[in-house]
Amino acid sequence: MVRLPFFLARGFVAAETMAAAMPVIIGAHKTGLLTTVDLLGEHVRNRRLAAAARDQYVQLLYALAAEHAAHGVEVNISIKLSMMGQIIDEDLCYEHLRSLLTVAREVGGFVRLDMENSTILESTLRLFDAVYPEFPKSVGIVLQAYLKRTRDDVERMCDLGARVRLCKGAYREPSRLAYQRMSEIRTRFVECMQVLLRRGHYPAIATHDDRLIRATQSFAKDKGLGADTFEFQMLYGMRPRRQQQLAASGYNMRVYIPYGNMWLPYYSRRLRERPENITFLLRNIFRR
Ligand SMILES: Cc1cc2nc3c(=O)[nH]c(=O)nc-3n(C[C@H](O)[C@H](O)[C@H](O)COP(=O)(O)OP(=O)(O)OC[C@H]3O[C@@H](n4cnc5c(N)ncnc54)[C@H](O)[C@@H]3O)c2cc1C
Repeated sequence: MVRLPFFLARGFVAAETMAAAMPVIIGAHKTGLLTTVDLLGEHVRNRRLAAAARDQYVQLLYALAAEHAAHGVEVNISIKLSMMGQIIDEDLCYEHLRSLLTVAREVGGFVRLDMENSTILESTLRLFDAVYPEFPKSVGIVLQAYLKRTRDDVERMCDLGARVRLCKGAYREPSRLAYQRMSEIRTRFVECMQVLLRRGHYPAIATHDDRLIRATQSFAKDKGLGADTFEFQMLYGMRPRRQQQLAASGYNMRVYIPYGNMWLPYYSRRLRERPENITFLLRNIFRR
């Protein structure tokens, strides 16, 4: 695989190593943000690498637990199951996930299963359903508003009492499965957000889109829901001033902090979503 120099990703990816990412995580915590940490990587097709990913995630949980003791940083990580063997063997992935969640529970941590493309959505939900009864406080899921099925999944997760992160969805999906127009995706997002705020268990509203942020704020206000009943989430490097502003206004604001050297697929999704992000890329090139 072609390895591009890291300076291209600077701005959206905290660092290449866990040690170098830690000051960024502590720094975000000290400014009043909540954090979730993501070791980058996906679509692993080799059992040895899948086991290595599990070990790295475990190491991350312990490192965050140490920072929790020292600085109060939350032990909260976001993972991709396709990095832990999901596309090799679902049973293998289940074993890795179970051992990871056992550590998360031991250190009082929380593991969010990121949602990837629709080819592994059913498998991700199956794995979530398999571990949730044993680790209800330690694991949460992501649902994507662009998928036509998501409204039903939202209702089901509310029935379960599971913690859901709602986002628009970042992958190219066919029109038989996903809404394509932004106006429609926003409408579905708002519908799902309202169900989650009313019936969900501490939902996370993950978007940089002001229309959706404002819709969430006004729905919560109309229904008399306190700012502590949900949280906003944004990605590291995106709208940092808005993140600070929401935190300063009393909202729980969590920033998703990715690190690692497998940053290209993550970074490509960010560029595709917002061509303006290419200016970051150019700035990084010319800053050298
Ligand atoms: C914390 C987090 C976790 C995520 N996890 C997943 C996951 O597990 N699976 C998945 O498929 N996707 C995930 N995503 C990605 C998500 O699905 C969207 O692809 C991504 O967030 C872009 O959609 P958006 O609503 O944020 O804004 P966009 O649709 O990109 O932009 C909409 C509007 O928001 C405003 N805006 C956006 N960015 C900026 C900016 N930088 N500066 C100023 N204004 C801006 C502009 O008004 C823009 O027109 C996650 C996103 C977040 C924030």
